[in-house]
Amino acid sequence: MPHDQKTKREKMAKADKDLIGLGIVVAMIILIIANGSSVIADFVTSLISNGKPLDDILSAALLLNVALLLFGCRRYMDLTGEVSQRRQAEEIARTLAQTDPLTGCLNRRTIDDALQDMIASARITGHEVVTMVIDLDHFKRSNDVHGHLAGDAVLLEATRRIRSALPERSIIARLGGDEFACAAIYDPDHSEAIDRLVLRINEQIAHPIIINSLAIEVTASVGLATTSSSDSSASQKLATTLLHRADLAMYQAKKAGRNGYRWFDASLESELRYRNELEHSIRQGIPAGEFVPFYEKQIDLDTGQLTGFEMLARWKNPRRGLMSPDVFIPVAEEIGLISDLSESLIRQALKDAREWNPRLTLSVNISPIQLRDPWFAQRLLRLLLEANFPPQRLDVEITESCLHENLGMVRTLITSLKNQGIRISLDDFGNGYSSFAQLRTLPFDQIKIDRHFVSNLDVSKDSATIIEAISSLGKGMGLPITAEGIETPEVLAELRKLGSFKGQGYLYGQPTDAQSVHEMLADQNMLRELATADDQFEHAAAA
Ligand code: C2E
Ligand code: CA
Ligand code: CA
Repeated sequence: MPHDQKTKREKMAKADKDLIGLGIVVAMIILIIANGSSVIADFVTSLISNGKPLDDILSAALLLNVALLLFGCRRYMDLTGEVSQRRQAEEIARTLAQTDPLTGCLNRRTIDDALQDMIASARITGHEVVTMVIDLDHFKRSNDVHGHLAGDAVLLEATRRIRSALPERSIIARLGGDEFACAAIYDPDHSEAIDRLVLRINEQIAHPIIINSLAIEVTASVGLATTSSSDSSASQKLATTLLHRADLAMYQAKKAGRNGYRWFDASLESELRYRNELEHSIRQGIPAGEFVPFYEKQIDLDTGQLTGFEMLARWKNPRRGLMSPDVFIPVAEEIGLISDLSESLIRQALKDAREWNPRLTLSVNISPIQLRDPWFAQRLLRLLLEANFPPQRLDVEITESCLHENLGMVRTLITSLKNQGIRISLDDFGNGYSSFAQLRTLPFDQIKIDRHFVSNLDVSKDSATIIEAISSLGKGMGLPITAEGIETPEVLAELRKLGSFKGQGYLYGQPTDAQSVHEMLADQNMLRELATADDQFEHAAAA
């Protein structure tokens, strides 16, 4: 609690107490003046004049006065005791409500008020306020490994270190878990002091924390935001804004690799707004059917024949036009919607591909997140059954990053998909994740060379060497290879010198929607005859 608030409250409590005391003393004085004084005077006069005390009534009145006096004093003492006990209890309750019980810092509810007070007093003296949100990196992991008691000790020590780095009269609050907020007043002519301060905090926290002779290493990511003299918002609004901005900056520091700090800048806020809008529109766009499959031709480079299509997701965004999967797939993955999105696309693609010549295959891209779902194979088979689509015509493309995650689970999944007749391709090969050993242990049906090696093949010797190596690897393992990203006849010519490939790329046309593919196939007399595809599926299902 800010010091001046506390003293204000103490002063008020004392004033209350004084008022009660004063009331009692005044009442006693009035009583004594009203009758006590005359009784005492009569009592003394009577004693002097006839050597005898007053009559019984007057004696009783005197005794009553004395008793009242004693009672008043006693009551006064009781009352002051009671008041101070109640004040103490209230103080404890208030402290508990305002501070974090573990660290004694302010809490999320009270930092706002404290920050408002700080901004208001900084304004009076022409100073500014810097707010920092500090989040410990990988704290959860250390908590899991070393236990909660050690976790608490780490938090306490981190608090102590942050506190010791802060200048006097700073504010420190624990926002929850391993997240803290601090604020300090600074002189705008010496803003370099803030960089020194935050460096000190980063440095202090990074020293190993020794708990039960264990050295626990923790670092911190810090986001910074400051008031500026041009900002005339009320200090209440500004306090909330500062905390929000410092929080955004802290996330940037995390993204930039942790153990560092970032200043807030306005682009962060518009980025966040864009991101929120994107998430919201994806949620709405899936059931609204805004995500549609586009198709890219796959060609046998030896014969020049069309062998199938790769389905590529597109978003027909009502406000932004056609959007690329690089924009929305990562977001859909993060917000847990990739399976819904992918299923809706595959369902449409199976329907489209059923109209094609059954000789043509359909390749679909599957995200690593989907492969974590133990029911993935069942879900895919259900889609195939619903569409009455032969599994032999489906090719599932998974990227090397999937192999990174849980090799055992991926192996089981690949095996069960293959048992159903689905083919599996390793996409974007050469991107640097998988080893040749992994390639051998996983039963892929095809390798797709990353398009970055292919597209500059005519100018880069290194690319040629890599493609040649992959080609001979494929030959050795009996795996067909697809080269992606063939853009020019020159690249195609170079590629054909290096081996036997399937290929795809803009040389054969940009990916197009279902309608254009349908028309193109109709032109080439490559649409299915109904009976053929159904026969083939029934045959496959029976097998
Ligand atoms: P990818 O699987 O490697 O797909 C090939 C990408 O290369 C596509 O980009 C395609 O349009 C582009 N491309 C094709 N030929 C050429 C060429 O000659 N030159 C160049 N420069 N590029 C070419 P797109 O459609 O933007 O897709 C990007 C990535 O998004 C895909 O890479 C894939 O990883 C992912 N993706 C697309 N659809 C889906 C989907 O339905 N689910 C999931 N999980 N990922 C998808
Ligand atoms: Ca692909
Ligand atoms: Ca690829």
